[in-house]
Amino acid sequence: MPSKIIYSQRVFTNGALQEASVYINDGIITDVLFEKKQLPAVEFIDYGNLVIFPGVIDAHIHINEPGRTEWEGFDSATKSAAKGGITTLIDMPLNSSPVTIDADSFDKKIEASHHQRHVHCGFWGGLVPSNAHDISGLLHKGVLGFKAFLTHSGIDEFPNVTAVDLRNGLKQLKGTGMPLLAHCELDSEHKGLVAFEKNPYSYKHFLQSRPKAWENDAVRQMIALCREFETPIHIVHLSSAEVLPDILRAKEDGLPLTVETCPHYLFFHSEQIPDSDTRYKCTPPIREQANNEQLWQALESGLIDFVASDHSPAPETIKEIQSGNLWEAWGGIIGGQCLLTATWTKAKQRGHQFEDLAKWLCENPANFIGFGQSKGKIEKGYDADLVVWDPEVSYEMKKESLWCRHACSPYVGVELFGEVVATFCGGEAVVENGELGHLGRGRVLGFTGE
Ligand SMILES: [Zn+2]
Repeated sequence: MPSKIIYSQRVFTNGALQEASVYINDGIITDVLFEKKQLPAVEFIDYGNLVIFPGVIDAHIHINEPGRTEWEGFDSATKSAAKGGITTLIDMPLNSSPVTIDADSFDKKIEASHHQRHVHCGFWGGLVPSNAHDISGLLHKGVLGFKAFLTHSGIDEFPNVTAVDLRNGLKQLKGTGMPLLAHCELDSEHKGLVAFEKNPYSYKHFLQSRPKAWENDAVRQMIALCREFETPIHIVHLSSAEVLPDILRAKEDGLPLTVETCPHYLFFHSEQIPDSDTRYKCTPPIREQANNEQLWQALESGLIDFVASDHSPAPETIKEIQSGNLWEAWGGIIGGQCLLTATWTKAKQRGHQFEDLAKWLCENPANFIGFGQSKGKIEKGYDADLVVWDPEVSYEMKKESLWCRHACSPYVGVELFGEVVATFCGGEAVVENGELGHLGRGRVLGFTGE
């Protein structure tokens, strides 16, 4: 017997939008009936023609609590996620203090999130030069994989790894099935760095200071390691399209390689970014339109597996909003809340339907984080994590509509399609009619509690 039935004429289930009643009990979808079917004394919510979609899974976000909560905390990050139709967030290990690199720091993360998880959260552990021996402890605790930087991370406590460190880490990971995620930029001295330092307000100089070659070299190194260790490797936030042929070859060879890109690479392009507008600064950078067109094509062909926000917030002062100094500004895009709507806005323009969107934002990230059997689809037996939204409505994104801690986002002032009406996590509405509902009910994915 369900405790709740959610109905719409457009439910995304079995690969298509169709009329359905979604039966929910105890946080689980117990049935999907292809008709309008009420039951006596059971709560029935009729969403008419709105789209009911699997909750979006954002496999790449930075929640800076504990330690840098003034940048972003669990409360604001997960409320903002729910407002954007996201029901699961996977947090990166480097922006809190302490950084998540051993079992103790992981416990501190979990503790900090108590009563503030308004959507489900999972955690990546960090691989840094000194901690290969902490990998098994972190895995035992329940991290979903490990993140490493091939260049300076921006956080001194989270140093980048060398090829030797990567090998040590991969030896530990081999056989566990858990992925190693890599920030792919291999820096080297070049003229563009000096030129950028002299022209710190120029986006063109910033872009040239972080060339595609840095990213290409790093991705190629990770592909070689993937080939050598035959263990899952994931390229986060791919920005350089030049390395796509290498990725194609690796995938054709059957290597366990996965790739994500971000909405900002798909939505914006460098030709339209004004100088001194530090909201657009991220690393690797947002590149030229022609490059980004190739990223789109790679996403469309399945070469890029999914889209994740890489929401990486900082206060306006650290983002250098007033000064416009790109050299000094924190590199990171604020806009996790726009993952669904920004991706949809561009996808819609390119003639995509909901099948593609579900693959890029729900099914493929669910598989990647190891929860493909319980999340990412609206089917019997799956978790009742759902978003109800109107994909046809368009509006200009306002600062006050962003619920993250700092709203200095490049999406402010931009026209977006798609408005979230309700977000259900484990069958309970975290957002209802655009307002906050049931809070503090998000689970920790994979956490063993030991
Ligand atoms: Zn990131």
